[in-house]
Amino acid sequence: MVVEPSWIVSLTEIAEKRGTWPVKLMLVGGENMSEKSRRHVEEIWKTDLYLTYGQTESFGSAGTECNRKNGYHLQELKFWFEIPEPDDQGHGEIVFTTLSRRVMPLLRYRTSDVARFMEGVCDCNLKSLRRISKIVGRCDEMVNCGLGNISPWMFERVLENVSGLAHDWQVLVTRPDLRDAIEIKVELLEGASQDKVERAIRTSLADLFPDMARNVSMGLCEMKVAVAGRGTLRTGRKLRSIVDLRKTLFRAEAAVPSASTA
Ligand SMILES: [Zn+2]
Repeated sequence: MVVEPSWIVSLTEIAEKRGTWPVKLMLVGGENMSEKSRRHVEEIWKTDLYLTYGQTESFGSAGTECNRKNGYHLQELKFWFEIPEPDDQGHGEIVFTTLSRRVMPLLRYRTSDVARFMEGVCDCNLKSLRRISKIVGRCDEMVNCGLGNISPWMFERVLENVSGLAHDWQVLVTRPDLRDAIEIKVELLEGASQDKVERAIRTSLADLFPDMARNVSMGLCEMKVAVAGRGTLRTGRKLRSIVDLRKTLFRAEAAVPSASTA
């Protein structure tokens, strides 16, 4: 099966009730998939799910996992990949140049995807092909706010340990008054209790990112967990995991002409 993550998660929910059929493997791409969702799909279908990386502009896959499922081996015969401005952990925007294409050649095309080159050599047969990590977020999803520097992978990890959650979630960053506020919107599985889920999310955040939990307890940032109706978060094909609504607010403020002193 060659599928998109959200699509295969929905199909798997149906398959859990109605049964599956034998599948050799799944090749999944188009957006990020959490390890929790991958494990769930693999368990139900009793098969391997491999992730691929690419975009419309790369004409499909530019990197693929091998059977180790640990990073994307890059298709370096066709693309030259760079991370021009890595941070201290090596994360940065992936930029690529097409090497052999006559149609729509691209020079240092900015993908907006943030990842890092992986160190060491993979022990599979694709040794000579470098790897990048899973995408940790889009450039416009890495947000600095009262909670700290947040990006989608962090919430993926926080929510991974919480039972009762469906696949989709979204984090909104707002500023209702003077301080930033974070709203974590989640969809619940049938029968899950909102109270329990909220408590589990707060505990998981405190375990994994104590600095952030401290910022909340110090009142630097409000944090709210909100439950959205099943299937309502995803309004388009792709779901933006972190939305900074303060930008709209700041822009509106900037547009107000300052009082004239004349
Ligand atoms: Zn490998």
